[in-house]
Amino acid sequence: MKTEALAEKIGKIAGISRISQNEKLSGHTTFQAGGPAKLFAVPEEPDALKELLRLLAAEKEPFFILGNGSNVLFRDEGFSGVVISMKALNRITVDPDTGILEAEGGAALSTAAGQAAAASLTGMEFAAGIPGTIGGAVVMNAGAYGGEMKHIVEEVTLLNEETGEIMKKTGAEMQFGYRESLLKREPAVVLRVRLRLQAGDPEKIRETMAELSEKRREKQPLEYPSAGSTFKRPEGYFAGKLIEDAGLKGFSVGGASVSEKHAGFVINRDHATASELITLIHEVQRIVLEKQGVLLEPEVLIL
Ligand SMILES: Cc1cc2nc3c(=O)[nH]c(=O)nc-3n(C[C@H](O)[C@H](O)[C@H](O)COP(=O)(O)OP(=O)(O)OC[C@H]3O[C@@H](n4cnc5c(N)ncnc54)[C@H](O)[C@@H]3O)c2cc1C
Repeated sequence: MKTEALAEKIGKIAGISRISQNEKLSGHTTFQAGGPAKLFAVPEEPDALKELLRLLAAEKEPFFILGNGSNVLFRDEGFSGVVISMKALNRITVDPDTGILEAEGGAALSTAAGQAAAASLTGMEFAAGIPGTIGGAVVMNAGAYGGEMKHIVEEVTLLNEETGEIMKKTGAEMQFGYRESLLKREPAVVLRVRLRLQAGDPEKIRETMAELSEKRREKQPLEYPSAGSTFKRPEGYFAGKLIEDAGLKGFSVGGASVSEKHAGFVINRDHATASELITLIHEVQRIVLEKQGVLLEPEVLIL
């Protein structure tokens, strides 16, 4: 189907708040790089998302589910299908008595962590500084400073992308591992997540969040666009240390650089293209393998 006609059909679905053509994906990813999406759609209701996926399946149109774009890198050619932003599906409810926080897939982790803290619930402090959505964090089993989504996810409500069926999975059924989950192997949309938190001391929770945020500011190049740690931690090593020991701090391709502050971060230092960022990532892999004998696996998803 022609792009215009498809855009018109999508625009008619109730609960799709925005549909645009040739939307620059650099504006929707924390790397601030990458070309346009043929179409970019923002559903505001789960039913709208369901109907949209049904239409795309019928039209055999490729699509990509985007959270906050903090772990993806789109190529300069862009995405020749429909990018579906989850960010308007962002409702959060907290019950301080039961310790249950429920959030839609597009809710920001930082907002959820803030609401947990405001309800004196502990367990989410680790996630306050991770710039992703709850859905993206479940897919990646995001973690930091000893905490992981795995420890707090009680139940996930999923939407099967092909059949439109709604399924519920327990935390154990999500098969969480290091930056891994069932959804890496069997993609489905994270509609809702139920987290189990514990009653805690509000002052202590805020203190921990402030401490972790200070640690991030001190150690990470937050002043530059990036996707966080570019590579997974290889077993028995730290990616940043391997890269630093290979003499690659500051190593650059065009506007893309290995951060001087933390070698585990590839940063967009100066208007880098996606192709410069990808070339740099591959160069770092090649040189570290040559010098240290370890193959670094990107954590960031290159599309
Ligand atoms: C400065 C910085 C610091 C970071 N620090 C950390 C850290 O400490 N720990 C850590 O683990 N990560 C960290 N990250 C990486 C990133 O924030 C996490 O991986 C985060 O969980 C990604 O969430 P997102 O919403 O941005 O997902 P996206 O990047 O938008 O997507 C990631 C994957 O999840 C899928 N996805 C997203 N939402 C959904 C959904 N609702 N349903 C189904 N699939 C979905 C996408 O299709 C894609 O495959 C950091 C990134 C940055 C930029």
